[in-house]
Amino acid sequence: MPRDLTHQNDLDSLSTRFEFDPAGAILYASEGRLGPTALVSSFGADSAVLLHMAAQINRSMPVILIDTLLLFPETVAYHKELVAWLGFTDVRRTEPDRVELFLSDPDGRLHDSNPDACCSLRKSQPLNRALAPFASWISGRKRYQSSSRTRLQVFERDPLTGLTKINPLAHFSPADLNTYMDRHDLPRHPLVAHGYPSIGCMPCTSAVRPGEHIRAGRWRGQPKTECGIHFVETTQMRGARR
Ligand code: SF4
Repeated sequence: MPRDLTHQNDLDSLSTRFEFDPAGAILYASEGRLGPTALVSSFGADSAVLLHMAAQINRSMPVILIDTLLLFPETVAYHKELVAWLGFTDVRRTEPDRVELFLSDPDGRLHDSNPDACCSLRKSQPLNRALAPFASWISGRKRYQSSSRTRLQVFERDPLTGLTKINPLAHFSPADLNTYMDRHDLPRHPLVAHGYPSIGCMPCTSAVRPGEHIRAGRWRGQPKTECGIHFVETTQMRGARR
């Protein structure tokens, strides 16, 4: 596993430099300044913004989808449509290990009994495998999305893996995203029009009612708010790397 050796002070300085320059942050990463970089996307409600920016800079950048095998069919179709439309040439899909799935989630109901274990099996472990050749990855997280993301930096280090994570859209608001999507006439995820402003796996995503938080439909009724592929400041959120 490649490790980025950039010091924390350098990451802080990069975060300041690129706070309001998402394209600059993507360009910096795509030039290999932090080692090999991939873009990881959920192909969710606003994923088209980051993907569109990256496509203008480097269409050969590896783009990874974590296919939990429990995604909405609309997400699977949107992924196919969007990567073709944007012209990405290195599109990767990572999915759960079939033997592990058979052993740990034979009836596909682990999300009911132990959602953290399910996210580890279906998201964290596949992502860890997909990121093995990389030293850094680009994520589409925004500060406004949840209380655990309010202090999100543009450049940060995953303390568990040593990988650098780049969050070029950290400062974006919902209005910024809408403006960008309108300006570039980006195709929308089909479920957005049906009340899904945040889209994950089918069993753990429900439509949001007027006035609810955008992520209210994720793991509704449960204390869980993150899938585990991200860390929150110094708190480990990711499953153990295999
Ligand atoms: Fe499992 Fe739900 Fe996590 Fe998807 S979001 S991996 S179904 S617990």
